[in-house]
Amino acid sequence: MRIVVPAGGIGGARFLRGLKAALGTDASTGPDQATDHQITVIGNTGDDITLFGLRICPDLDTVMYTLGGGINEEQGWGRADETFTVKEELAAYGMKPTWFGLGDRDTATHIVRAQMIAAGYPLSAITEALCDRWRPGVRLLPMTDDQVETHVVIEDERGRRAVHFQEWWIEHRAALPAERIISVGAEDSRPAPGVIEAVKEADLVLLPPSNPVVSVGSILNVPGIRDALVDKTVVGVSPIIGGAPVRGMADACLTAIGVETSAGAVAAHLGSDLLDGWLVDEADAGTEVEGIEVRSRPLYMSDPESTEAIARAALDLALELRGDGGR
Ligand code: GDP
Ligand code: CA
Repeated sequence: MRIVVPAGGIGGARFLRGLKAALGTDASTGPDQATDHQITVIGNTGDDITLFGLRICPDLDTVMYTLGGGINEEQGWGRADETFTVKEELAAYGMKPTWFGLGDRDTATHIVRAQMIAAGYPLSAITEALCDRWRPGVRLLPMTDDQVETHVVIEDERGRRAVHFQEWWIEHRAALPAERIISVGAEDSRPAPGVIEAVKEADLVLLPPSNPVVSVGSILNVPGIRDALVDKTVVGVSPIIGGAPVRGMADACLTAIGVETSAGAVAAHLGSDLLDGWLVDEADAGTEVEGIEVRSRPLYMSDPESTEAIARAALDLALELRGDGGR
C-alpha cells in the first residue's frame, strides 16, 4: 500500500511513528524496496528560516530525527543528548537571535545542509542525503525546493510589521495577536520533484495532527498539491481536542485566519472536497461536518501504543471510505 502523509513537525512525526508501527514496516524507503508498504511524507518547509548563515528546516529535521531515532523525546524537537556550546559562543559574540535553540549536534546537520546548498543542490536532494544517515523508513520530501516562508503580520510598540513565523512563535510565544499569516513565495513555488507523482500513485492520504494553518496549510498553499490531494481518499486526525490545541499555540494561528478553534471548524476549513474522513477525540463526539465522515476515538498520542492505535484507526477509516475493507 502507498500512503502519502503531508506533515508538520512534532505532531506529524509522532503520528508517522505510529503509522510505521501500525503497518509493521520499518524500511519502506522507496519503491525499489521489497516491502509491502511505502510511506511518502510531504514535509512542511514554511517554517524554514536562515539564521547564522544556516538554512534551518525545523519540520523536516523533526520528522527525520524522530523516525531515525535521534530526537530529544521529551522536547519533541532537536537532538537527544544535546549540548549548546555553539549557541553560547554565538551569544558571546553578540550574534542575534538568541531565542533559537540550535544545539551542537544539530549544528552538524546544518553544516552539511549549508555545504550542499553552496554546491547548488536543491533541498529535496539535501534531505535525501541527510536521510541516508537517519534511515527514517519513509520517503521524506520537502513540499517544495523553492523558498516559501510563513510570515506573520503583528503590531507592537515598533508598529505594524511582518515577522518570520519563527520569531512570532518562539520569541513572542504567539502572544502578539496575528493580523495575517502569509506564505511568502508560495504563489510562485512548485512542488518538489516526486511530490505530485507520489500523490497520484498513492492508495490513500492521511493528515496527521499537525498545525492546520502553518503546517498543513503551508503545504496546501503550494500550487498543485491541494488539487492532486482532492482526487484521493483523505483522512485527517484532529489536532484540536475539546476546543484547544493539544500542545503549542495552533489556536493563535486559527484565530488569525478567522477559523474557530474546534475540531469541526478545522475540518470544515480544510474542506469537504479535500477531507473524506476526520477523526476527532471522544471529547468532541457528536461533531458533524457536512460532506465529511466524522468518527470519535481517543486522540492523545500519549505513548507508542495509543499513537499506533490512532494511526490504525485513520488507516481503517480511509480503507473503509475507499470501499475496500481489507488490506
Ligand atoms: P509543529 O511543527 O512542531 O508545530 O508540529 P505540527 O505542525 O505537527 O503541529 C502540532 C499540532 O499537533 C498542534 O496543533 C497540536 O495541538 C497537535 N498535537 C500535538 N500532540 C497531539 C496529540 O497527542 N494528539 C492530537 N490529536 N494532536 C496533537
Ligand atoms: Ca512546524
